[in-house]
Amino acid sequence: MAKDASAAHGAIIKRVDALAGQIAAINKSIFGKPETCYQETFASGLLREKLAAEGFSVKAPVAGLATAFIASRKGGGGKGPVVALLAEYDALPGIGHACGHSLIAATAFGAAAAIAQAVPDHPGTLMVIGTPAEEGGGGKVKMIEKGVFKGVDAAIMIHPSNKTRVIARMFAVTELIFTFTGKAAHAAAFPHKGVNALDAGVLFYNAVSSLRQQLKEEARVHGIFTHGGDAPNIIPEKVVMHFYVRALDKDYFRQVIHQVTQCANGAAQAAGCGLKIDQRGHTYEPFYPNRAMGRAFREHLKSLGVREDPYGETEEIGSSDIGNLSQQTPTLHPEYAAGGKEDINHSRDFLKAVVSKKAAANALAMTKAMALTEYGLLCDPKLMAEAKREFKEGR
Ligand SMILES: [Zn+2]
Repeated sequence: MAKDASAAHGAIIKRVDALAGQIAAINKSIFGKPETCYQETFASGLLREKLAAEGFSVKAPVAGLATAFIASRKGGGGKGPVVALLAEYDALPGIGHACGHSLIAATAFGAAAAIAQAVPDHPGTLMVIGTPAEEGGGGKVKMIEKGVFKGVDAAIMIHPSNKTRVIARMFAVTELIFTFTGKAAHAAAFPHKGVNALDAGVLFYNAVSSLRQQLKEEARVHGIFTHGGDAPNIIPEKVVMHFYVRALDKDYFRQVIHQVTQCANGAAQAAGCGLKIDQRGHTYEPFYPNRAMGRAFREHLKSLGVREDPYGETEEIGSSDIGNLSQQTPTLHPEYAAGGKEDINHSRDFLKAVVSKKAAANALAMTKAMALTEYGLLCDPKLMAEAKREFKEGR
């Protein structure tokens, strides 16, 4: 490592430590005012204000989304790559910040402010991109469609979890609504005059359960009945089911969607019902972790004395709209433990962990590794070239 680089690294680490109080305060403020899907006015406003105070020029709304923003800072004249830190800040309905997005917002601010303060004349452009509505709203998908990430050479976001792991893949996911239609009739007097849509739904559910046995490990299908009929003495004329289909690989994803659709078609035919299939929301693409960026991140973590937990790349994984971004530009999405192994995302225990001392300490270490990796992408053309090559060849 060049002397300049190691001096810059030392300065960045020092600044992150100095920003610890602010990072914790941002997490607590956003945590205390949970806002769901596209309603994140307070969180987005707070981050914009804090980043403006650090010399970032802030643009909002972005892509027609009131709570999305871009904060950017040109270092030494703006020549060089454009690298982004992503901030999520939406909460879950009912349970609040049980996915810890308040921490994502706080750490993105921390890394950005530390770089800006420690190496103000860095090459290139440093951005913080505020991406609302990850939980079901597809904020990043909409922003990609509007070209927000065009010209962004690399992006990083760190996410609290029940483990510390730099590289993990994530499922593609789509939401499908199956509506079976039959014919209502008195269930005792005229059962023979009815067509039972619930039978179609039950057959479909069981067909999917059988199919699951034949699926590869890297796919998931799960669903519920959202409408199962109106009264026991009426042959159900309408049954609605809501399913998620997930897979790691794009081709296999399409195949599983086809197989699930065939199950529904067969069930409808068996029960003599009509069937309508609607896709809901946005399809999240599989997340592809950029391994070159991952290697850099791992080296920094190691030098900070942080150990990764021993988990495979496809163990305990979900889906995210960052998957779509990872198909557009080199992207990294490391995770870190907010609490213990059993404090899993979207649970009450995780909610407690998000504002715990352990989460604050782990978040601070990860913020350092994120800032150092981001700085590496700005300054080191070799690292950026590797990230781009890996992006082109590796997916
Ligand atoms: Zn999340």
